[in-house]
Amino acid sequence: MVITMINRTVIITGGNKGIGKACAIRFAKNGDNVVIAARERTSALRTVNEISSFGANAVFIETDVSDFQQVCDMAEYAVKQFGSIDVLVNNAGITADAFIDNMTLEQWERVIAINLTGTFLCIKAVLPYMEEQKIGRIINISSVAARKGAIAQSNYAASKAGIIGMTLSLAQELGSKNITVNAIAPGYVATAMTEGLPEKIKDRAVRVIPAHRFGIPEEVADAVFYMASKGAAYCNGAVLDINGGISL
Ligand code: NDP
Repeated sequence: MVITMINRTVIITGGNKGIGKACAIRFAKNGDNVVIAARERTSALRTVNEISSFGANAVFIETDVSDFQQVCDMAEYAVKQFGSIDVLVNNAGITADAFIDNMTLEQWERVIAINLTGTFLCIKAVLPYMEEQKIGRIINISSVAARKGAIAQSNYAASKAGIIGMTLSLAQELGSKNITVNAIAPGYVATAMTEGLPEKIKDRAVRVIPAHRFGIPEEVADAVFYMASKGAAYCNGAVLDINGGISL
């Protein structure tokens, strides 16, 4: 099947802000139709308006990725609006940091439910459409924490390492169906997620990152866009580090 590289339908979970928003704008600027699936309406509608202002199509559907019914509604809505689901970007994620002595079961389960189970549920929901189309691209946002771990982030690192395991498994399961599954593992990126980190930790990070700076969301979005591109048709089961060299 021929891949049409514009006018694709791209679902981006957490596409209302941060890295997800940068992805939404990157795809929209290519002429793709963007479905922003997130919880917070104000920032989502702001992003939809921003995309509409340069003549591209974007819609918002209120979605909690940890709720399978909502995620199925998201997939159905995308197809109703634009007729297909060509790309899924599993970007929604949270942190709930604590040292293990203090980490509650609730903190553990919340992070796993959104970051890891949410990714699983979104894939489950879009897969029937991609299988029917006989083509699809799935890009999962992991983290450098999956590879290195991170103090006070055992829940987050476990969820992001789980995403890598899931990506490698599904790349093998779905590759013969013309559906690729890849992951991006960002390091420190300047978004709301890192804004709240203590200054001491941010300063130390900037010192040890070979690039001596945080990444910007657009640098992750470019990598996501590549993995959904025609040129990446043979890229399957890859985990791409976008971290200024901090993992070295
Ligand atoms: P932000 O905090 O800016 O954005 C997080 C996004 O996830 C929001 O759009 C939020 O939407 C969405 N989200 C959270 N929970 C849910 C949920 N239950 N259902 C639907 N959407 C949800 O963070 P970033 O942009 O930095 O993070 C994006 C991804 O990148 C995350 O997976 C994160 O783990 C990963 N990452 C980030 C790094 C960084 O340094 N910033 C480094 C490595 C990985 P809403 O506002 O509607 O809740």
